[in-house]
Amino acid sequence: MKCKVCRDRAVIQVRRHNANFCAPHFVDHIHRQVEKTIHHYRMFRPSDRLVLGVSGGKDSLALWDILTELGYRVDGVYLHLGIGEYSSDSLRFTQEFAESRGLDLKIVDLPTDVGFSIPQAAAATARTACSACGLSKRYILNQVAAEGGYDVLVMGHNLDDEAATLFGNVLQWNPEYLARQAPVLPADDGGLIRKVKPLIRVAERETAAYAVIRGIEYEVEECPMAAGNTINRYKEWLNALEEQSPGLKANFLFGFLDRGQPAFASHRGSVELAACAECGQPTTGEVCAFCRLRRQTLVKISSRAAS
Ligand code: SF4
Ligand SMILES: [Zn+2]
Ligand SMILES: [Zn+2]
Repeated sequence: MKCKVCRDRAVIQVRRHNANFCAPHFVDHIHRQVEKTIHHYRMFRPSDRLVLGVSGGKDSLALWDILTELGYRVDGVYLHLGIGEYSSDSLRFTQEFAESRGLDLKIVDLPTDVGFSIPQAAAATARTACSACGLSKRYILNQVAAEGGYDVLVMGHNLDDEAATLFGNVLQWNPEYLARQAPVLPADDGGLIRKVKPLIRVAERETAAYAVIRGIEYEVEECPMAAGNTINRYKEWLNALEEQSPGLKANFLFGFLDRGQPAFASHRGSVELAACAECGQPTTGEVCAFCRLRRQTLVKISSRAAS
């Protein structure tokens, strides 16, 4: 197996691009894919203030490295979920990465700063752990970005994440979700910060290979709350299809973004946002979903403590 660029020994095969790469040319390839995505979707300019949601996993740490190598100044925000060793290890990897590169990292500790952990929220409400986690991440990361005066919140979703989410939204035929599934979610007057996903052209196994080649240490253990996560199941199904037809995942996602999504455009602005009565962040109801989750969980925790 030879590198498509220099004919040296290749270390990775990227079947959907019909190409093999040696380590340095694979790194160049990934940088080009991300740069192309940023420009194609006009995600941000070098003068914008960027903050990246980092989890300590391969995708967000690889993206932090890629953006820094491309010359962007990006701060990080880490949300401690209170999921035992998984959270403490993820935090350690994130801190070590930031320190080794002199990058600015903000940490929000859900149990200490807000009063509950993800396992507690899942036990106290009808939500699954992943649903409580997704809601908390969306809320806190947007809040940190808004309060920090950032122009853009950058997320590490990769090709597999986006294709699996799209797959789930198609299975449910959810027009509002399909209208909003995009590489760029614009800012709105209600307080939502512009959100972008520069990794959507890069597959999960490629971010893992990139992290290994670049010597990035990341959390390899799967989150203990992941059992039953539907997105993971959709990823497995799509991987089985990709195995037979390389490029299928990318065609599915980018075909939708280019040709399918315009059909759902009318559903985009169909929901009116107003300020949450408790926290002031944008919501469709009177009190936002995060404030309801927090209230329900804290009530349950204090009633358990009292009994
Ligand atoms: S698996 Fe679920 S609970 Fe664990 S980090 Fe991912 S979304 Fe959160
Ligand atoms: Zn090469
Ligand atoms: Zn609220």
